[in-house]
Amino acid sequence: MQTEKTSITPLSRSRTIERIVAGQPTSDGDGVKLTRVLTQDLQRRLDPFLMLDAFGSDHPGDYIGGFPDHPHRGFETVTYMIEGRMRHRDSAGNEGLLQTGGVQWMSAGRGIIHSELPEQAEGRMEGFQLWLNLAARDKMQPAWYRDIQGTEIPEFVTPEGVGVRIIAGASHGVTGAMQREVTEPLYLDLRLPDGAKFTQALAAGFNAFVYVFQGALKIGDETLARQRMAILSNDPASDGVLVQASGETRALLIAGKPLGEPIAQYGPFVMNTVGEIQQALADFQSGRLTAG
Ligand code: MN
Repeated sequence: MQTEKTSITPLSRSRTIERIVAGQPTSDGDGVKLTRVLTQDLQRRLDPFLMLDAFGSDHPGDYIGGFPDHPHRGFETVTYMIEGRMRHRDSAGNEGLLQTGGVQWMSAGRGIIHSELPEQAEGRMEGFQLWLNLAARDKMQPAWYRDIQGTEIPEFVTPEGVGVRIIAGASHGVTGAMQREVTEPLYLDLRLPDGAKFTQALAAGFNAFVYVFQGALKIGDETLARQRMAILSNDPASDGVLVQASGETRALLIAGKPLGEPIAQYGPFVMNTVGEIQQALADFQSGRLTAG
């Protein structure tokens, strides 16, 4: 889906970079190498987002094990495949194939047990998994998921040649593939030619960050290098962010409305209290995690 745009909305004042984060190299699932860009210590600052993992490798040994059966409760996972193929199977018998350019939006709600396994024996596997928190009142809703093919993600190109894919939320009047109530997430994949500028309106109270995965971006007086995340300042006088590419650049711009609720996490369970975590563990051990 592509719309040609004739103009983009100007900003009166851009947010600046509050902090640049390098992330932590780690592995998860069955030995999948990844960088945890948004780590647990940033959950309060970047509420409603709980985690961002970046993975990218040409070596099957770095990804072939995938993520065998594991549980989740209390939040949503958004998997965006830049390149490669991954198959999802869950405890309810659902199955889906996530392919280059596509997104899987999964709401764990009260519980799901699923696997996420590569459907390729060689070649490049690159993408992201973002965790989006659910409000306390929604954490025990039934699980659901949606596979969004790359062709279903709305896109537009600005007059400066910036390609914008809108996975969630809206940009310059173009509505994205997913809309979520309560946290109103914005999730953009930006592709900028060298020197091109792009602006995005952001509500002042929303937490926002940018992750560069190719090239580099200037934001205010600072340069955000490849494989770095910038946490954007929550300046109440700012109405959005202005970025400018240094070289051919690709970046994610993600923002959302904070929940302001307590966060209790134990591995793949994210609730509001320790008691609810203990309940999740007990439900998982007794086979009642996914029971309706
Ligand atoms: Mn999972």
